[in-house]
Amino acid sequence: MTFHIITIFPEMFDSYFKESILGRAIKQKIIKIKFYNPRDFIPRPHSGQAKHKQIDDKPYGGGPGMVMMAEPIIRAVAHIKSRIKNQDSRIMILSPNGKKFTNKYAITLAKKHQHLVLISGRYEGIDARVKKVLRAQEISIGDYVLTGGELPAMVIIDIITRQIKGVLGKNESVEENRISSPEIYTRPEIIKYKNKNYKVPKILLSGHHKNIENWKKKRT
Ligand code: SAM
Repeated sequence: MTFHIITIFPEMFDSYFKESILGRAIKQKIIKIKFYNPRDFIPRPHSGQAKHKQIDDKPYGGGPGMVMMAEPIIRAVAHIKSRIKNQDSRIMILSPNGKKFTNKYAITLAKKHQHLVLISGRYEGIDARVKKVLRAQEISIGDYVLTGGELPAMVIIDIITRQIKGVLGKNESVEENRISSPEIYTRPEIIKYKNKNYKVPKILLSGHHKNIENWKKKRT
């Protein structure tokens, strides 16, 4: 799976993608991540038109903030399409008003597509014509408004990558399929805090697997 991220802040992704499971998946070439900065896709000015390096402008009809211009993003996607040719792809615009992203949807995407294009917005969002021209799908990661689409892109890539075969190690995938409980403990057995003892539930120390599984089930 190749993730193509359109963003004006590609450096934001560096540390997250370097570490842990995602870092390993990239090293092992199970996933690839590519960045495209809309600033590199600004159309050339027509003759007589002043040179401009803008990727955002004021909203038509008024309103607060600036809007990301459509053309640099559409041109970035055209560039990606020319590279991947006829391979199967999906274009997603990150937006708080989009369809809510779920684990179930991640599983479908991981199975179905070779390329995912994720468009990260900034400012007040993206000119609505990007969605129309590209027939893209708007995706939200939750009912809140973030400053930009970079965190949502990382979240979506993380969720999908976990679902790709070979990404999780043997132990990690066993963990994934096991009944997990919101209550988990590790050593030591007793923690003392302000004269009070906080103990690990006895059942978890019993070694009785059936009873432990039942205890976990009750807590999910
Ligand atoms: N009023 C704008 C709107 O409703 O779209 C808010 C834009 S927000 C400040 C800037 C960018 O952050 C958006 O274009 C989008 O890419 C991203 N974003 C913010 N919250 C998001 C969420 N919950 N899910 C996905 N993307 C989000």
